[in-house]
Amino acid sequence: MSTTAWQIGGRVWVSINKQWSPATITNVTSTEVSFASEYGQQCTLPRDSLNHDTVTQMHQTSIDSVDDMASLGDLHEAAILYNIYQRYTRDTIYTYIGSILSAVNPYKLIDGVYGVELMQSYMKRQLGDLPPHIYAIANEIYESMWRKRENQCALISGESGAGKTESTKFILSYLSAMSQQACPSAAGKYAVEAAILQSSPILEAFGNAKTVYNNNSSRFGKFILLNFAEAGNIIGGQITDYLLEKNRVVRQNPLERNFHVFYALLVGSDPAGKERLQLQGPESYHYLNQSGCVSDPTINDQQDFLHIREAFEIMQVPAQQFSDLMSVLAGILKVGNITFGKAGGAQVSDKSALEAAASCLSVESFRLSDALTQKFMKLRGEEITTPLTLEQAVDSRDSLSMALYANAFRWVLEKINVRIRGKGHFATAGVLDIFGFENFEINRFEQFNINFANEKLQEYFNKHIFSLEQHEYSKEGIDWADIDWVDNAECLNLIERKLGILDLLNEESRFPKGTDQSLLEKLHNSHKDNAFYIKPKVNNNKFGIRHYAGDVFYDVVGLLEKNRDSFRDDMLKVLKDTKSDFVYDLFAHMTLDEDTSSGGRAFKMDRRGGGAKKKATVSTQFKTSLHSLMTELGQANPYFVRCIKPNGEKVKDKFVPQMVLNQLKYSGMMETVRIRRSGYPVRRLFADFMFRYDVLGRSLGLEGKGEIEACRLIMASQDSSKKDWQIGKTKVQCMLTMQCIGAIYECMYM
Ligand code: ADP
Ligand code: MG
Repeated sequence: MSTTAWQIGGRVWVSINKQWSPATITNVTSTEVSFASEYGQQCTLPRDSLNHDTVTQMHQTSIDSVDDMASLGDLHEAAILYNIYQRYTRDTIYTYIGSILSAVNPYKLIDGVYGVELMQSYMKRQLGDLPPHIYAIANEIYESMWRKRENQCALISGESGAGKTESTKFILSYLSAMSQQACPSAAGKYAVEAAILQSSPILEAFGNAKTVYNNNSSRFGKFILLNFAEAGNIIGGQITDYLLEKNRVVRQNPLERNFHVFYALLVGSDPAGKERLQLQGPESYHYLNQSGCVSDPTINDQQDFLHIREAFEIMQVPAQQFSDLMSVLAGILKVGNITFGKAGGAQVSDKSALEAAASCLSVESFRLSDALTQKFMKLRGEEITTPLTLEQAVDSRDSLSMALYANAFRWVLEKINVRIRGKGHFATAGVLDIFGFENFEINRFEQFNINFANEKLQEYFNKHIFSLEQHEYSKEGIDWADIDWVDNAECLNLIERKLGILDLLNEESRFPKGTDQSLLEKLHNSHKDNAFYIKPKVNNNKFGIRHYAGDVFYDVVGLLEKNRDSFRDDMLKVLKDTKSDFVYDLFAHMTLDEDTSSGGRAFKMDRRGGGAKKKATVSTQFKTSLHSLMTELGQANPYFVRCIKPNGEKVKDKFVPQMVLNQLKYSGMMETVRIRRSGYPVRRLFADFMFRYDVLGRSLGLEGKGEIEACRLIMASQDSSKKDWQIGKTKVQCMLTMQCIGAIYECMYM
């Protein structure tokens, strides 16, 4: 920047503490220049320190802000951050980066940003025609199913509280609206669209909870697949869930809550229901009162219960089954109130809590008591009973509650899936709403799985954005600068290849003498030389992985137990002998260990080399479901929505630049901008282009010219520098900045 440019009011990028900030020059003296950063910092620098490493001029596109960051003149993270910031302060939360949508959570309802009217205006338009919006993405998904005759999917990512689940719901409601427009006769309470939309309140009641990050935090991941008929309407769907955080049923961090449905049941039931299940207020239950938070002003438990009941009606779940389900929930709370005393081994100390729990589950109270406090074993054909310690009894109580809840959740999802199931389809649209990358003070089994999933999704993202683009350009014979991107294949190899971390974890989980420590040793021994593995310098029960989004250290304590997720046979037997068909059905899919380990059939299978059927570990189940998800996504054309959380306090009108910058770093947006700029985001087949834009060529004398030459002349008439376009082998390729083309067309024909 030349010295003559130092003018008060000049807009620049200034490096403060090694980070570029957008700033305005506030004072200039013969020796110093002062700056005020747009984020509120001030700084003064000596004139002789000003050079390209400390101050650069701001491009007009950054000053004005742009709809599509691919067209930013300044190409760095700070410019992306500032563009998002400027738009956010004007309540414009959506921005494109090529075909990726970034969405900042406003934590408030912005007037006119959603609704049927706005949906209407996005219908039949192309991406980029109107201001960036989640509806534009939903519309593109819908239209592409027909235009490309291809399955579509939306991958929504972001931290907890960034707005993933809300974005998912906007896409679903848009697609439902399109569906009903295509087939109006099928509208109404019993239409499949209604059932799909009504799955949200149910899944949120059973799968969401208040956490410190989000008052309505999804504690499970989900993939919603919609089947469309050729006529344009939804004919069915399927929801797959991932990794429900079932620990939450028995304990929560301070000021967090258990799953919403418990409070809704206790607060919202009518007097008869409360009487039937002998319900008390949330403060009376150990599973609800230990965190110091039973309610929140933003959550209306009473009203939610009505919505849940209504939604179950739409799901066509009979009233009796709904009431059985509520009994199980009440049963879980009552199980949690069972306490133990010690006389020899653990004893149930309060018979009334035990009786209450047993009655909700329709099991014999003395058998429940035995299973909670004793362990049965067969030793050389003889049955022996050993008392549990106090701690073990509490564990067995809590694992009963977790199993009850996990199975109830599974049952609910199954009901939804039966209700929305459809036969055949023309194309599908999937929406993935899954936890983002996590790195906490202490990271455990859950974070390991979540981050593994995010690595897989990142691989998919890379493949799509980079490899496919590259492929497209070389196929078209278009010149473009090669882009280096961080390939995460090696990190994934470390986790999932043969003898990788997952294999070692599973091996140690199956090994009866395996401990968290022996696992750690094996991990260190096998992988310490891997560039993506980190062996901490001090021995602290941890191992680290170099993820694409940063280094994460995982604590091994409890890893094996969580991976094994064993449920004691004694308890399962008690539950299978319940008098309630409903409770029996919840556990029907679970088999007793002895069915598989000592039965003659299993033994024979073993001998034949088939291997006895062992219960898959949690990480194996997750890996399997992740792989089938990736297969599904691999057959679809993706759209990426990157949700961003502007502050940690869940408040409106507050933007913390550093926090947003961290999220941008691992969203892959930066690389995307580079690739989009190096390449040409708009591509049209020659014939397609001529059909749409030949109006531009009317004064150019194109008669007799071939298609390719005609395209070339039209483009040259718009941009003679040829900077923003190229002619490929089959397509015209140009920058989004050439949208003038689209605009002229719209004026003349719309
Ligand atoms: P995530 O699923 O990423 O954890 P949510 O989608 O549950 O986050 O969003 C958290 C909260 O933020 C919501 O309950 C809502 O209050 C608010 N929120 C999210 N997106 C929007 C939006 N587009 N407009 C208004 N509020 C939003
Ligand atoms: Mg969510």
